[in-house]
Formats: sequence, structure tokens, C-alpha cells
Amino acid sequence: MPEKQKIVIGVDLDGVCADFYGRMREIAAEWFEKPLHELPEEVSFGLKEWGVNNKSQYESLHRFAVTQRSLFSSMEMVPGARKYLRQLSDEGFRIRIITHRLFIHYFHASAVQQTVEWLDNHGIPYWDLCFMKEKEQVGADIYIEDSPDNVLQLRQNDLFTICFANSTNRHIENPRASSWEELYKMVMNLYPFLRSQSVT
Ligand SMILES: [Mg+2]
Repeated sequence: MPEKQKIVIGVDLDGVCADFYGRMREIAAEWFEKPLHELPEEVSFGLKEWGVNNKSQYESLHRFAVTQRSLFSSMEMVPGARKYLRQLSDEGFRIRIITHRLFIHYFHASAVQQTVEWLDNHGIPYWDLCFMKEKEQVGADIYIEDSPDNVLQLRQNDLFTICFANSTNRHIENPRASSWEELYKMVMNLYPFLRSQSVT
């Protein structure tokens, strides 16, 4: 496909490509000095099920995870992310990673380095890597996102967004994908429509 006609897929990292909640659960068990089994796997967005009661506690835990436990380079990959992103890339889609990982002040160099190392180490293909809070300001034809607020915000801006399902976003409406295989099939089914929209 010629470069100008490529359909851009804007892909979130945490909770979509990287198993954020799985790794954070291990780190939170350490942080709170609790056995792992006492922290439920089913969590909502603010992690209150683990005893994180406000934004400041969340930020303390997150800071510890990133700065002391290399969160961004030590997460497992969500199964299928490499396989299906490589297939989409081979079929001519442009993979644009869009992540809001720079929210810890004075830690940007390490956050970016951990992120790039993780992407390389897991063989995730991408053309663009965007560190952005306002994801709607990054152009993409399809967004893949798990954070409930981000999905709603993107959809409010009329941006086509597939919710990548996990325990934090059960209340979010379709379109939803519960696995990378399902996501891949959804994108391929949309392809003729997207192609007709992007080629004028
Ligand atoms: Mg996310």
C-alpha cells in the first residue's frame, strides 16, 4: 500500500500490549507487604481492590513500580500482541504506539528507555511512538485502548475506538475485543470501509 494511503492503527501499550495489571499486582504485593494471593486479579481502574484509596497513593505505588522495579521493561506481553501486530503491519497497516507514560516528572529518560527496550525485546512492530496524554490529538484511523476514560474521550471526539477488554472496563460499550485474535478479525472486517474513507 502506498505510504499516504496506509491506515493508521493507534495502539495503547499498558493493558493492551503489556500486561500492566499482572505486573502491577506483583509489585503492589511487595509494596503493601502482602502475599500475592490476597490481591484479587479483578481490579477496577484506580486499584482500590488492592487498598489503593486515592490518587496520591496510586501515584506513590506507580512511581515505585516505574523507578524501582522497572515496570515498563518488566511487564509480560499480552498474548497475541506481537503475532497480530506483525500481521497487521505486514498487511500494510501503519502501527502507531500512543502511550501516556511520561506523567512522572524528572523520569522521562528512563521511562522512554524502558519502553523502547520492551518493544524491541518483544518484537512489537511500530513506525511511530507517541508519548501523549491527549490521545485524540494524535492522528489515527482506529484506536485500540483499554482505559475507560480514554475510550470515552476518544469516542466523544468521533474517533473510532475499540475497547480492549479487561476488568477495568466492563461497563464500556461495543466495539470491544477480548483478545488480540478477536481484535485482528475486527480490524480486518473493517478494512474495506476504512479504505474507502481514507482514499479520496
Ligand atoms: Mg492502557
